[in-house]
Parts: sequence; C-alpha cells; structure tokens
Amino acid sequence: MIETDILIIGAGPTGLFTVFEAGLLKLKCHLIDALPQPGGQCSELYPKKPIYDIPGFPEVLAGDLVDNLMEQIKPFQPGFTLGERAEDIEKLEDGTFIVTTNKGTKHHANAVAIAGGLGSFEPRKPQIEGIENYEDHGVAYMIKDPEAFRDKKVVIAGGGDSALDWSIFLANVAQKVTLVHRREEFRGALDSVEKVQELVTQNKINLITPAEVTDVKGSDKVESVTITIHDEAKRFQEIECDAFVPLFGLSPKLGPIANWGLEIEKNAIKVDNTLDYQTNIPGIYAIGDVNTYPGKLKLILCGFHEATLMCQSVYQRMNPNKKYVLKYTTVGGIDGFDGSRKEAEKAVIKKIGS
Ligand SMILES: Cc1cc2nc3c(=O)[nH]c(=O)nc-3n(C[C@H](O)[C@H](O)[C@H](O)COP(=O)(O)OP(=O)(O)OC[C@H]3O[C@@H](n4cnc5c(N)ncnc54)[C@H](O)[C@@H]3O)c2cc1C
Repeated sequence: MIETDILIIGAGPTGLFTVFEAGLLKLKCHLIDALPQPGGQCSELYPKKPIYDIPGFPEVLAGDLVDNLMEQIKPFQPGFTLGERAEDIEKLEDGTFIVTTNKGTKHHANAVAIAGGLGSFEPRKPQIEGIENYEDHGVAYMIKDPEAFRDKKVVIAGGGDSALDWSIFLANVAQKVTLVHRREEFRGALDSVEKVQELVTQNKINLITPAEVTDVKGSDKVESVTITIHDEAKRFQEIECDAFVPLFGLSPKLGPIANWGLEIEKNAIKVDNTLDYQTNIPGIYAIGDVNTYPGKLKLILCGFHEATLMCQSVYQRMNPNKKYVLKYTTVGGIDGFDGSRKEAEKAVIKKIGS
C-alpha cells in the first residue's frame, strides 16, 4: 500500500504543480498516470510546440515546461505510479481514501486530487481479431521501457510521430525493426521522416508501405504477424517477430472516474469554485482541465491557480486546529523533503567603511 497525504490522479502540468504547492505546506504527494511519462497533454500531444501564455515565460516549449515543473518539484520527492489507470476508489470510515489502479496497485491518502485533464489517454487499437490475447505477451500499445525490446524482432505500425520516433530509437536497440504504414506518406516532424528514410537506406529499418498488419499469430506469445500489402496484387507477407507495437495515437476518456459518484456535467467534474475546487464528495477535489464551474477556462495557468487553492483546503482538512499563515517563498524559502534548502540571501548588518 502506497501511503501519501494527497493522491493526485493525473501527472499533467496541473498535477505536477500541485506537488510544489503541497510541498510548501509540508504535504506529501503521490501521482498516478495512465501514461508512461509525466506531462499530460504537454508531453503526449505537443512537446515541441511553444506556449506563449505561461506567466513569466514569453515562450516555452511544452516539453520544456514539463521538464521545469519536474525540476521544481524534485525537492518534494513525489512518488509516481506511471502506466496505470486509477480504477476504483473507496472512502474509509476515517474519511481517508484507497485508490486502486487497473494493475492492482493500492494507494492510501488523506485527500484525492483528480487532475485527470481530458481523461486517461487510451490507445487506439487496430481491428485485429484476437489481438487482446497477446496484450502484454508481445503486443504493446505504448513503449514504457525500450530496453524490453533489446535484441528482439519488433514490428511497429503507424504513420505519426510516435511510430517514426520509436522506429528510429529502436533501430539501435532491437535486433530488427519493421515499420508498417497504410500510406506511403508519413505525418510527422520533417527531421524524423528524413531520419527514418536514412535508416531504411542503411537497412536498419525494414519499411513496408502501403500495408497493414492484419493478423497476429503465436501460441502463448507473439511469434509472427501477417502483413497485407495494398498493391495491385494485394500480397500477404508473414514476418517473424517477438513484438508487435501498433502506435495509432491515443484518445482521452474520463473512464472509470465517471463511476465514482461524482457530479459530472458534459464529461467534466463539477466543483465548488467559490472556495477550494472540492467535488460533491468531501476530500475529493478536481483541478485543471477535468473540472467545470461557471466561467471555467481550460488553460494551464488556471490549473496552477486551482491547485494552489486546493492545497490550502487539504491543509485545513488535515490540520483543522492550525491557522495557516501565508509565507512568500522569497521570505520563507523552500525546505525540501530531501533535506535541501533554498532561500534568498539574508540581509546583513555591516558597517560600511572604517
Ligand atoms: C495542441 C494543444 C495546444 C495547447 N496549447 C495551450 C496553450 O498554449 N496554453 C495553455 O494554457 N493551454 C494549452 N493547451 C491546453 C493544455 O495543454 C491543458 O489545459 C493542460 O494540459 C491541462 O493540464 P491538466 O494537468 O489539467 O491535464 P492533462 O494535461 O490532460 O493531464 C491529465 C493527465 O491525467 C491522466 N489521467 C486521466 N485520468 C486518469 C486515470 N483514471 N488514471 C490515471 N491517469 C489518468 C492522463 O493520462 C493525463 O496524463 C493546449 C492543448 C493542446 C492539445
């Protein structure tokens, strides 16, 4: 059982910044995310795009914003359960919560902050009969640990950035990489398309287009795939492989959270925006893109603001008899849970001259 003060569901920018604000109040956080890496939409959908409306940053790449947030929260040592979806919640008699993921990992927390954005990103799966029997037995819809493919024969399907980038990366890790796409054109960053072209010329990537993987075979794990080549003859090719990775993008779904008894309006969670972004269940908050209230704007800076006020409310919930006194970080500094301390230079009393 993972123990924490605030369990944050969703490691997008809102969830990440929550760790910082909670840390200032000496509250520990743990984050769950269905994706294998933190950053939410910023990392998954537009890491190389510049954002222009983060206060104090005239321009920042979405991926760099996530890196900066990770750096900012490091002293507060957040825990992460990545690549798992929060599935069930149970409220205990003492008002605390147990949240269980789809992989069975259990988390016990005083408060739950749902920072689930548009919902958990679910992979788009190809229409191949029986493919589910090979999931986790050679079929993967996202790559969590590229080392798992070392010296393996891998077939990747897809025509976007993920398929291009992982083909490039695995070309130096796997024994053989085959990239299959139903069109001859790829939709991705120009330098990735050019790099794949170069690796194909060097025989480091086996490119098959226009084609589709139409069957997966094997006894208890993937042993081969059938590729249908969409040329005039409509040929079939059998490729021996250890892994088949269809990378057809992700679609967001509010998913299991929709069944937690929370008030939902148009696929978003209703919260009390006059106070602390608490939902209709005391102790469960919803912040960032996932919530709704009159005048709601789905912007990163709004998520940061909501996270800040929510942490104050959790502090009061956990310390009902203590009065919180706001201290500027410029005055109070930052005491990391790792023993680090950041503080502004202190004023000195010193005589000038003799
Ligand atoms: C192309 C594009 C450009 C944008 N440009 C801007 C911009 O210029 N400025 C701006 O302010 N905003 C911009 N946005 C919007 C901005 O990205 C969002 O407002 C922001 O990402 C919301 O952050 P969040 O942390 O609330 O949610 P998200 O970033 O959506 O993160 C939510 C996370 O929760 C996870 N999750 C959800 N449910 C579960 C569950 N049950 N279990 C586990 N994990 C779960 C998801 O996997 C996801 O990682 C843009 C969005 C897009 C798509």
